[in-house]
Amino acid sequence: MALVEPLEPSAGGRRRLRLVSPADGEDLGEIEVQTAADVQAAIGRARKASIEWGETSIDERRRILERALRHLVHHQDEFLDVIVGETGKPREEALAMELVGACDALQFYARRAKAILADRTLPLHLLKTKRLLISYRPLGVIGIITPWNFPFLLALNPTVQALMAGNAVLLKPSEVTPHSGRLVEHLLEQAGLPPDVFQLLTGDGETGAALVEGGVDKICFTGSVETGRKVAVECASQLIPCTLELGGKDPMIVCADADLERAAAGAVFGAFSNSGQVCISTERVYVVEDVADAFQRKVVEKTAELRQGEAGESDVGAIIHGPQIEVIEAHVEDARARGAQVLAGGRRNPDCQGLYYEPTVLAGVDHGMRVMREETFGPILPIMRVRDESEAIQLANESRYGLSGSVWTRDKRRGVAIAKAIGAGSMVVNDCMVSYAVTEAPFGGRKESGLGQVNGETGLRGYCHAQSIVVDRFGTKSEYLWFPYRARKGRRLRRLLKLLWGTPLGRLLT
Ligand code: NAD
Repeated sequence: MALVEPLEPSAGGRRRLRLVSPADGEDLGEIEVQTAADVQAAIGRARKASIEWGETSIDERRRILERALRHLVHHQDEFLDVIVGETGKPREEALAMELVGACDALQFYARRAKAILADRTLPLHLLKTKRLLISYRPLGVIGIITPWNFPFLLALNPTVQALMAGNAVLLKPSEVTPHSGRLVEHLLEQAGLPPDVFQLLTGDGETGAALVEGGVDKICFTGSVETGRKVAVECASQLIPCTLELGGKDPMIVCADADLERAAAGAVFGAFSNSGQVCISTERVYVVEDVADAFQRKVVEKTAELRQGEAGESDVGAIIHGPQIEVIEAHVEDARARGAQVLAGGRRNPDCQGLYYEPTVLAGVDHGMRVMREETFGPILPIMRVRDESEAIQLANESRYGLSGSVWTRDKRRGVAIAKAIGAGSMVVNDCMVSYAVTEAPFGGRKESGLGQVNGETGLRGYCHAQSIVVDRFGTKSEYLWFPYRARKGRRLRRLLKLLWGTPLGRLLT
């Protein structure tokens, strides 16, 4: 079932896409693909609006976010209807992962931005006749491009940060889930954000590429490695900054002393929540041999308890984007053909009409299989036995990805030490899937998982240029290092250089 189908162009000549629910095939309307000319016009409006917006006080911006938060809390069901309809997620999952995260982001940045973005003065180690001020200046116009797996949260969270930092924003949500992107527009309108400070651009890669090429001041991109690379190349050619939040193949390391009950429950949640369509979902498990049987048994038992279906309460929702189910099937088939055992699932759910893949547990896997090397982005949990923790670390690092991962052990210190040995942007000890939810934590992948970091203090300041302003303190008539250069001045400088950097006294002074 294709979830985004091309239609005849609109009267204005724009391409049109028809949207279909992954849960039940219901018609979800259509969008027009905005062209490069539309994007240019929007950037022009944003640039004008950014001037006044950049001059508003942080308190004014805070009040808008607080109004947005109140609106979201009061109208949560309307928001959930749209997100669930478009993605086929269980309602409670959309509530827990999209709305809780959105409310937290609105409140966190509303409250904390003032302190994080306040001018700072730093004590100087050498030029003590100067004062250094760091001022966080808005960049201007930010382009935000987002994927379909958390279509509301991943659109709202960077938008809120960029706005609080004083920028105008152009959001291009995924063509698979544009209505959830439209919720961000609606929310900000309700909160009284001035016109054109935020604009929504609907469309697919054509619109996204036009935004990246259009002359904005920064791109915040979340999506696949393949598209991220194109975005990075274009940003490099324009010399504009970008953050790239890309794919992952997160390892889970289960040590011999792990609490197996918690680790098994964590593995099941980490692999199957949002049907595995999470950049930081648990995509491969390395379990130490001594506890592998017990761990595997518990995982299979817990997987059997999961409910999947279109009606009533359920745990594991739909595959949001049609082509993704083919990737999932290909990974499972490749693993099966190379000798993996399917301990649970391993097929589309025959009882469901929509796009549902059963939560699947694989054993007997190795790195020769695609499911251990490539991002699956589906409800698949491959478990590999390892001799000991060092082998687990080595295998965890054998990946082109480095987004996140988890370590499970009763010895938290050792857990942190193992976490540090993994080449990933963020790690978790005895939990999973929380790196993005901890709002203070800078978030961003290493290797092919991304570039730069978002969220928290680092992310918020990333929507600004940290401008250094050096102020002379005493206003003397001239400076010693200014003209004229004379031999006598050179001799004195040499003596000073020796004193400052060549003696114990100098080390105290600098
Ligand atoms: P995608 O790369 O196909 O699309 C992402 C967005 O880019 C969409 O809005 C799309 O229309 C747009 N786009 C497509 N071509 C473009 C181009 N040439 N220039 C600019 N924009 C373009 O990704 P997807 O399939 O929507 O999302 C799934 C991927 O996102 C997975 O790999 C997942 O791991 C990753 N992801 C990463 C994070 C993170 O924070 N690291 C979070 C969520 C998802």
